[in-house]
Amino acid sequence: MAREDYEIVMGLEVHCELSTKTKIFCSCPTQFGGEPNTHCCPICMAMPGTLPVLNEKVVEYAVKAGLATNCQIARNSKNDRKNYFYPDLPKAYQISQFDLPLCYEGYVNIETPEGEKKIRITRIHIEEDAGKLNHDEYGRGSFVDLNRAGVPLIEVVSEPDLRTKEEVEAYLRKLKSIFEYIEVSDCKMQEGSLRADVNVSVRKKGSTEFGTRTEMKNMNSFRSIVRAIEYEANRQIDVIENGGVITQETLRWDDVSGKTFSMRDKEDAQDYRYFPDPDLVAIKLSEEYIENIKKGLPELPESRKKRYLEEMGLTEKAANFVTASKYYSNMFEEATEVCKNAKSVSNWIMSDIARILNEREEEPEELKFSGKELGELVALIDKGTISSAIAKKVLEEMFENPEMPSKIIESKGWVQISDEGAIKEVVAKVLEANPQSIADYKAGKDKALGFLVGQAMKETKGKANPQMLNKLFLEELNK
Ligand code: ADP
Ligand code: MG
Ligand code: ZN
Repeated sequence: MAREDYEIVMGLEVHCELSTKTKIFCSCPTQFGGEPNTHCCPICMAMPGTLPVLNEKVVEYAVKAGLATNCQIARNSKNDRKNYFYPDLPKAYQISQFDLPLCYEGYVNIETPEGEKKIRITRIHIEEDAGKLNHDEYGRGSFVDLNRAGVPLIEVVSEPDLRTKEEVEAYLRKLKSIFEYIEVSDCKMQEGSLRADVNVSVRKKGSTEFGTRTEMKNMNSFRSIVRAIEYEANRQIDVIENGGVITQETLRWDDVSGKTFSMRDKEDAQDYRYFPDPDLVAIKLSEEYIENIKKGLPELPESRKKRYLEEMGLTEKAANFVTASKYYSNMFEEATEVCKNAKSVSNWIMSDIARILNEREEEPEELKFSGKELGELVALIDKGTISSAIAKKVLEEMFENPEMPSKIIESKGWVQISDEGAIKEVVAKVLEANPQSIADYKAGKDKALGFLVGQAMKETKGKANPQMLNKLFLEELNK
């Protein structure tokens, strides 16, 4: 059978570091980086005799995440120990949640070529992050850094509802965007604040049973997730086509070779010997507590989209694009406030800003300028101070040094020439140098006008006002 006869089935376990000030069971800071082992204390280093105390903010953030993803919230929940040994896990168990997660049975909607699709969320639970092993480049061994040990995480487990790599990317982007909007995490994938375990299986189209899955751990860039899915699905299809069977295992994706490697056989829940952590009390949430969190939720992307469609006149496509990221959406609102031209602002975000970010392999949160600068840029075009061609150059410059566009234009000498006398001079000069074009125009070749305008633009390094050029050329040609 051909590859097209197979369907890919995927489910994600997304780990997201919460942006609480302190860790989940002690008062150490959660801040990323720092000298190794400077953000830790006897509790997160697992000294004997220490006791964890649950950080209430972690529960609040997790409930927020659950409500924003349409989950049920458990009134009764608890923490469990998940036992396994790894050098970056000083207790030799991770405090997580087993059978009573804080949130369950939710969903998010994603856009697909066939329309909106619901991706079900099985559960969201809270747990602590592990430390980090740094492998010495001179081969002297590995060093453990416990700064990250005890940083709070939520783990969002989806149902196996995803069918294409595009759906996986859309789902992850949707989660990232929601968590950014509700401010429970900075979701910086490059710092590991958002990472996904991607479970992949394949089956023949039309089959109702799932195939055996493999799991690729700790993926933290969209690019590698998409590549890894493509590779792994094809690998599985080849195995099956050659008469083999897929073994359930945990894989490591290697970005350099573009392949997956086996790490270990997959553990089952019973391997972890989960049991309720006797050092922690049960988590009981009142109706009032949940209601208050619900009331405090900020405006979510779906509602912003509605506003952009109904009140600001954006197209469906533009509204979807702009609200997909909190950073785009905030920039859009701020810029529109300045220039009162929502349509143009959304166009700049969708076309040039997105394109340049893509070329730089950056995400919207890495933008160095704000809506104020973008708003001024659009206003300067609308006022005729600069042409859109110059505006594109100003924007490129803003990515390098985020100054106000008016400043950039001034220091580069890019102000549009709108002085009639100056433009007349250029027109006369270009006409004198191109008698053939004048003859062509008079012979009915309208294209000649475009050529002349282009020459004048060249002459003024793109600074002449194009409407005025057109008008003055026509005046001269029709004399
Ligand atoms: P574990 O925690 O042991 O990895 P779970 O039962 O919590 O196992 O499932 C993990 C993830 O695997 C879920 O996101 C689920 O949707 C996904 N999954 C389960 N079965 C399959 C399958 N056959 N193919 C692809 N993904 C699957
Ligand atoms: Mg798993
Ligand atoms: Zn600590």
